[in-house]
Amino acid sequence: MAHATGYFTHRACWQHDMGAGHPECPERLDAIEDRLLLTGLDAALERREATPAALADLELAHDRLHLAALRGLADTLKEDIAAGGPQRAQVDPDTSMNVHSWEAILMAAGAAIDATDAVLAGELRNAFCAVRPPGHHATRRQAMGFCFVNNVAVAAKYALERHGLKRVAIIDFDVHHGNGTEDIIEGDERILMCSFYQHPFYPAWTHSTAKNMVNLPVPAYTRGMDIRELVETCWIPRLDEHRPQMLFVSAGFDAHREDDMGQLGLVEQDYAWLTERIQAVADRHAQGRVVSCLEGGYALDALARSVEAHLRALAGV
Ligand SMILES: [Zn+2]
Repeated sequence: MAHATGYFTHRACWQHDMGAGHPECPERLDAIEDRLLLTGLDAALERREATPAALADLELAHDRLHLAALRGLADTLKEDIAAGGPQRAQVDPDTSMNVHSWEAILMAAGAAIDATDAVLAGELRNAFCAVRPPGHHATRRQAMGFCFVNNVAVAAKYALERHGLKRVAIIDFDVHHGNGTEDIIEGDERILMCSFYQHPFYPAWTHSTAKNMVNLPVPAYTRGMDIRELVETCWIPRLDEHRPQMLFVSAGFDAHREDDMGQLGLVEQDYAWLTERIQAVADRHAQGRVVSCLEGGYALDALARSVEAHLRALAGV
C-alpha cells in the first residue's frame, strides 16, 4: 500500500484573479505554500503538477451548455480585451473570469481527477489539491459563489464512472453549504454526502432531505467541540454504514474562528481532528483513499495553519 500524500497544484491556479480586494485571491495559495516551506512539511508531501480536465469528464457533473457558456465567455473576453474592453467578465455579483480563468478551472478539476487516478492506482495513499477556483457552489448548470466547476463532484463521479467504484463519500466542512455538490449528487445513492455549515447563511438554497445527504445546519458561533459531537454522532455512523470505497473532501477552512467570512468557531486542532476522523473512515473501508480539494478559507494566516493541520493529519506526520 502506498504511503505518500500527494500535493497537486498548477501555476494557472494563481493566475485566475477576480480583482483587487477580492477575498478569493491568489495570495491564498501563496500563504499555504509559504507555510509548507516554513514548517518543512513540504518535504513530507509528493508534489505533482495538475493536468487539465477533459470536457467529457467535466460533463459527468455538469450540463454541456454550462461548460460551453464558460468557455465561450473566456473566448469573448479575450476578444474584448484585445479591443480595449474590460479585463474581467462577470458571472455573478461576486464571481468573475479573467483571461486565465478557463485554464485555472480546467486545472483545478484536473488536479482532483489526477489525484483520484494516482490514489486509485496505489501510487499515493491520499492527496490534497491546492487549487482555485473552488468548486462546491457550482451547480450542474450555474457558476456562483466564486465557483465555476465543481471539482469534488467531478472527481467523485469520475471515480464511479471511470474507475467503476460502487460507493464513495463526499465530506464538506466549509462554513458555507455546498449547494452545488448537493444539486449534482442529490438522489445518487452511490454517493453519501456529509456536511455541516452555518445556517441561515449564504447561499440561500433549499437544503435537500434526500437519503444520500447528511446535512447539519448549525447556528453562528457554534464551537469546534459541538461540531465534533455532531460529526461523531451523525456523520461517522452513516459513513460506516455506507462503506465508501473512496472519500472526497470539500476542504474549506472559512469556519475558522479568525475567518470573517463566517461566524463559526473552529481552530486548527478541530481541522486536525476532523481530518483524522475522515482518514480513519477511509482506513476502515477504503484502503485509506482520500482526495481533498481546497474550497474556502480567506483569513490567510488561519488558512495556512489550518491547511497545515489538515495535511499533517493526511500524511500522518
Ligand atoms: Zn465557504
